[in-house]
Amino acid sequence: MRAELVMVGTELLLGEVVDTNASFLARHLADLGIDLFFKSTVGDNMDRLQDVLGRALGRSDLVLMSGGLGPTEDDLTREAVSLAMGCPLHEDRDVARWIENLFLERFGIANALNRQNRKQAFFPEGSEIIPNPVGTAPGFWLEKDGRIVVALPGVPLELEAMFAETVLPRLRKLVGAESLAIRNLHFAGIGESRLAELLADLVETQTNPTMALYASGGMVRVRLAAKSTSREAAFGLIAPLEEEIKRRAADYFYGVDGETLESAVAKACLARGVTLASAESCTGGLIAHRLTNIPGSSEFFLRGYVVYAEQAKIEDLGVRPETVAEFSVYSAEVAKEMAEGVRRRSRTDFGLAVTGIAGPGGGTPDKPVGLAYIALASAENTIVQRHFWKGEREQIKDRVASAALRLLWKRLNALDTE
Ligand code: ATP
Ligand code: MG
Repeated sequence: MRAELVMVGTELLLGEVVDTNASFLARHLADLGIDLFFKSTVGDNMDRLQDVLGRALGRSDLVLMSGGLGPTEDDLTREAVSLAMGCPLHEDRDVARWIENLFLERFGIANALNRQNRKQAFFPEGSEIIPNPVGTAPGFWLEKDGRIVVALPGVPLELEAMFAETVLPRLRKLVGAESLAIRNLHFAGIGESRLAELLADLVETQTNPTMALYASGGMVRVRLAAKSTSREAAFGLIAPLEEEIKRRAADYFYGVDGETLESAVAKACLARGVTLASAESCTGGLIAHRLTNIPGSSEFFLRGYVVYAEQAKIEDLGVRPETVAEFSVYSAEVAKEMAEGVRRRSRTDFGLAVTGIAGPGGGTPDKPVGLAYIALASAENTIVQRHFWKGEREQIKDRVASAALRLLWKRLNALDTE
């Protein structure tokens, strides 16, 4: 089945509203294994809406629409679908009564149907109504000549509720004969192109499962999707490929599906019964934030310092003033003393520290923006890494935090073989 999205609303074209509905619908279609080949955005204009709908119906089996179902003059979806599908509008009495009651009960407005609201009770002939549990405009599902049009309101809360309650179960039934399995594998410390290179021959030969790489925030995700007669059979198709990918990129793999770098770290800390404290200079507490997003983190994450001033590093962590004077605060030496200091003062098994230049100011030719040092101290040793990233301030903070978590995670895994 080929699907297409038609997003309606001039506000979307003006850039005033971010089209979250499209990504919501697209993600669900992907999970259902329904191919989405086109997405159009069109303003509240009948000619252009007709044009877009005509194209969509010409090349897709399923057209999902968002917006333009309200009561006002510029809400044109029902009329446009009615014309495009050749299904005249007619009033649904039940919906009309429901709207009248809703207005009376909720807003104390009598005879609501004398107003424009009446429009919301009209649907193209043959439509099935999609109830709206949170708003006034119901949607509709219209099937004709092998084409399906699903119209939902633009308000995200309403669209999401109606999709989940009514549309999703129906789509599941439609694609039911074929079951889809999806597995996401997460990697850190390796770039998208390098990972793609490692897996190139696998990517080229796969059709079922299919395989795709996505990079964000310094991490790479490999999405595997397979179709078969049952979910179990579909996962069975994925398993050997998953093993092969993990084998090739074992150094960088940290989790599947909902797992994050921080949840992997938390799991490893709890399993091994080790404790941790952090000292952050260019990540502003982001490492502590990410770790403490994991329920139960207080079992292993005992303390986090945010130390920006030189004096803070010296007073709170015991970094030596001479080290700062000789090497600057952006140095391997200071990172090392920060990690050792935070570990000593917090009496934890591990001390994790970062120092670097997130920018945009503060860079020099030999200490440029994006330079960061990450150090991890334990009873055995202190590991220090130097990293360099290009990017905006927040991106750099994100990358440094991820690299620090990755270093910790690798070190925790090495504990098993020590
Ligand atoms: P209503 O009954 O509220 O008029 P409607 O179906 O007419 O519903 P729209 O008027 O198109 O919906 O949109 C209502 C609001 O929903 C918009 O002002 C906008 O804030 C939000 N919205 C619309 N489309 C989207 C979208 N694609 N993604 C996210 N938000 C959206
Ligand atoms: Mg509207």
